[in-house]
Amino acid sequence: MSIRIGHGYDVHKLVENRDLIIGGVNIPHHLGLLGHSDADVLLHAISDSLLGALALGDIGKHFPDTDEQYKGADSLELLACVYELIKENGYEVGNIDATVLAQEPKLSPYIPQMRLNIARALEVELDRISVTATTEEGLGFTGEKKGIAAHAVCLVYKK
Ligand code: ZN
Repeated sequence: MSIRIGHGYDVHKLVENRDLIIGGVNIPHHLGLLGHSDADVLLHAISDSLLGALALGDIGKHFPDTDEQYKGADSLELLACVYELIKENGYEVGNIDATVLAQEPKLSPYIPQMRLNIARALEVELDRISVTATTEEGLGFTGEKKGIAAHAVCLVYKK
């Protein structure tokens, strides 16, 4: 059996007149995340962790933000494309553990739906997908509500 781990990190800026989409959930908030795609910071960190596990580069390489095709792209679909690459390489997803860093809004009510969305996209049981949220106690760019960041680690395996 071959086991590999991956790590992903992403940041998007909080701005007015954008939807706040995290983990494929549209969260009511007066600010949203800026980006070429839907700017789903959590799904981008997870996608990068999966690509990183197999040393396949990052989502910027696979889905360039200069490509009109990915303007406003649904990051759940991008995650599904990444999963296809993982499968093409003969690997399956063992588990994901991800953390979103946001001062506000409170994300805990939306985490069950985020986990469900991710588990579906990666064709794994719900108990293999962990998502947590934390604040950075008012410190730094997340604490000052200028942006939201996400970290993700994953394990992938080939039998
Ligand atoms: Zn991103």
